[in-house]
Amino acid sequence: MDVEAVLSELLPQIPENVFSRWLYDRVSLTWLEEDDDRLGMTRFEDGNVELVRRRRLGLDPGPITIGLHPRLVEEPDLLRHTLVHELLHASGVLNHSKELHDAVEEIAPGVAISDSPMLQEKRDEYLDSVKVKSWSCKHCGYEWKRSTVRKPVRCHKCARPL
Ligand SMILES: [Zn+2]
Ligand SMILES: [Zn+2]
Repeated sequence: MDVEAVLSELLPQIPENVFSRWLYDRVSLTWLEEDDDRLGMTRFEDGNVELVRRRRLGLDPGPITIGLHPRLVEEPDLLRHTLVHELLHASGVLNHSKELHDAVEEIAPGVAISDSPMLQEKRDEYLDSVKVKSWSCKHCGYEWKRSTVRKPVRCHKCARPL
């Protein structure tokens, strides 16, 4: 899949907002790490203080990086949905408002869990995280409180694989 082509196709559909006219020059795409919990993220490279100031004054936001989870290449509809969500953030909609979600649904509708292996995995990880409150190591017996959704790869004490 050519993600840059998807980006060029989606950009003109993003509703007008404070940073809209800079998006073409300022947005670059990158891939998140394979073990990242997020489907996508948007980062204003000049930092949050500048972001707030330039948004208020309607100035060039500077470089914006949008990261997508690499597995989204297997799920093009979910990739589009995620990318539009991030492009709306990049355009200056910072909160997860109804406005943001409505616009995303209109341009690239969400995907049903039953149609997406990735969303099914996330749901299972979440359900598992609600049930399991702590981890324990079968090698050394160390037990520690759960702080991540994903199961840790190694014991926090003896570092052997769990
Ligand atoms: Zn978001
Ligand atoms: Zn251990």
